[in-house]
Amino acid sequence: MRLLIDMDDVIADTLNYTIACLESNNIIIDRKELAGKELEDILTKEQVDFMHKMTDSVSYFKRIPIKPNCYAVLKELHKRYEIRVVSCAFAFPNSMNAKLGWLKKHLDFISLNEIIFCGCKADIKGDIMIDDRTENLQKFSGRKYLYTAPHNKGINRYKRFNSWIDIQNEFCR
Ligand SMILES: [Mg+2]
Repeated sequence: MRLLIDMDDVIADTLNYTIACLESNNIIIDRKELAGKELEDILTKEQVDFMHKMTDSVSYFKRIPIKPNCYAVLKELHKRYEIRVVSCAFAFPNSMNAKLGWLKKHLDFISLNEIIFCGCKADIKGDIMIDDRTENLQKFSGRKYLYTAPHNKGINRYKRFNSWIDIQNEFCR
């Protein structure tokens, strides 16, 4: 059984870190406004340009924290299932090296053969997909799980995980 697990906002706590970085640059985010939206939708054009410059830098990605309980649960899943960490890393090419370094640092049991960087997830084979993006789940033919993030609030056509404890309860019984 092969599990495809998304990186940003499933394994890596990317959005929360991005918000913290914006706020440390005096761009204050109202989280209620983010429901069903992207950061790009609630920022000015200048703020979006600033954010994209920031998120495409190597140092930015290095500092993103791992989601709570992800390490222990994913390590357990790794013993029971075939794991692929899948990331649309081509969207921010400068981040690719940093993402690879991040995975080595935070998930020491994941080998290079278990990482897939791509432009689109549609052709990647697996039995189960966990992702915060409905556009990735839509194109996947196996079992689909949505990892909760502000932008996917209100979407109820997929089984939802709110935390890695939910993932543990589903797959590690
Ligand atoms: Mg994601």
